[in-house]
Amino acid sequence: MDNTHTEIWENCLKIIKDNISFQKFKTWFEPIRPLKVEDNVLTIQVPSQFFYEWLEEHYITLLKKTIKQELGVNGRLEYSIVMDNSFENADPLTVTAPTGNKPATQNPDISMPIDLNKGNVKEIPNPFIIPGLKKINVQSQLIDSYSFDNFVEGDCNRLARSAGYAVAQNPGKTSFNPLFIYSPTGLGKTHLAHAIGLEAKNNYPEKTVLYVSTEQFIHQFIDAVRNNSHNDFIHFYQMIDLLIIDDIHGLAAKEKTQNVFFHIFNHLHQKGKQLVITSDKPPVELKGVETRLLSRFKWGLAADLQLPDFETRMAIIRKKLYNDGVNMPDDVVEYLAYSISTNIRELEGALVSILAQSTLNKKAITMELARQMIDKFVKNTAKEISIDYIQKVICDYFGLPLESINSKTRKREIVQVRQLAMYFAKKHTKSSLATIGHHCGNKDHATVLHACRTVVNLIETDKQFRTYVEDLEKKLRI
Ligand code: ADP
Ligand code: MG
Repeated sequence: MDNTHTEIWENCLKIIKDNISFQKFKTWFEPIRPLKVEDNVLTIQVPSQFFYEWLEEHYITLLKKTIKQELGVNGRLEYSIVMDNSFENADPLTVTAPTGNKPATQNPDISMPIDLNKGNVKEIPNPFIIPGLKKINVQSQLIDSYSFDNFVEGDCNRLARSAGYAVAQNPGKTSFNPLFIYSPTGLGKTHLAHAIGLEAKNNYPEKTVLYVSTEQFIHQFIDAVRNNSHNDFIHFYQMIDLLIIDDIHGLAAKEKTQNVFFHIFNHLHQKGKQLVITSDKPPVELKGVETRLLSRFKWGLAADLQLPDFETRMAIIRKKLYNDGVNMPDDVVEYLAYSISTNIRELEGALVSILAQSTLNKKAITMELARQMIDKFVKNTAKEISIDYIQKVICDYFGLPLESINSKTRKREIVQVRQLAMYFAKKHTKSSLATIGHHCGNKDHATVLHACRTVVNLIETDKQFRTYVEDLEKKLRI
């Protein structure tokens, strides 16, 4: 009697079910679909390449025996693998692979009765548990203080922040998958990544959220290869509901790890799981990362974190002070926000040193102390004053509101103040002419160049003007 492929597969499943744990059966056999039986060859469809490899590596013996029992000694099995890019196309692409491509790793002998995997139930090892070291919480690796509450919102981060927030409300269900957050260092990628994880965990305590740095991921992978637990490693990552992977640029030139990440990515994405990725560059600019991986990164949303404006820097300092329960005079807060504009981590560093100095030496926090500390800080690190600070000093000096620099007015005094701001920005910052123009009334680089020449001319020809410039120079260097 000719059985249909469904019946044959159902019979196989009955045997398999009796020989492995329920959990394994659910994971590895329930997702399989029988496709056809022809000339004693049963074709089954498996969801991914990885799935096929796993079956071949762990269940080949069991499968072979079962098939032979159902289809006779000449019975064979073929896989139809749903390819990774199937979800880009309307029709699922499949490839067929005959069974037995890979050497069986367990029980190479085919002999009844079957009791292969019973009593051999192995937990998937968790790469976060380092033997002999303390157990790390698998649930998250999240840092509590890096919450949305502590993440100050500003124009510089609005898009990334709201996308992150949306993702945390509905992981895997928004079109922001993956959510790719990029910026230069010190602008809040890691903080935002944790905030998303914490918020998601809060909303969905049953979901497995995992934060991992790319560096950690690479080390775990190397260890897994060394310990021959490569598949366990992949399997562990494929169980995550929200995977946050920080500083993905670290994968550059690490081809093997990229490959494994590619499979994990596809699996999670296909299963509707959420990925959050951070990087120091947008996907298009990532060097040394395979194109197929880069194209994945572009599927969702890429959002950048920009330099925080003055208001946001003030808000960030105030938030930290509030959280630490410390008071600081307003002018010191302002000075700090004016002086350090390119890196929030450095801004925090300067704040911490001022607080430390004041506590250690039992000195009050004064402008004087702040200047000493920031001077050291700025000289040691950024070595430049910001365009914002220059504008503030110049406007204060001439008694004009700060907004005047960015206004459209062509009043002579304002034009001159704007030109001075451009001149000092060119002299004291590393910003490009285009950036300077952008920050000084949205002008182009030619206007900035013209302004610098005008100021130089005026210094040479106008005594009063020269005094202004000299005064300003001193004020900028206090
Ligand atoms: P990155 O990962 O981009 O190098 P981090 O996330 O480590 O940057 O941020 C550096 C520091 O700045 C952290 O201490 C973080 O808490 C703080 N920070 C960054 N952005 C914000 C923000 N919007 N609000 C409050 N703190 C921030
Ligand atoms: Mg970081």
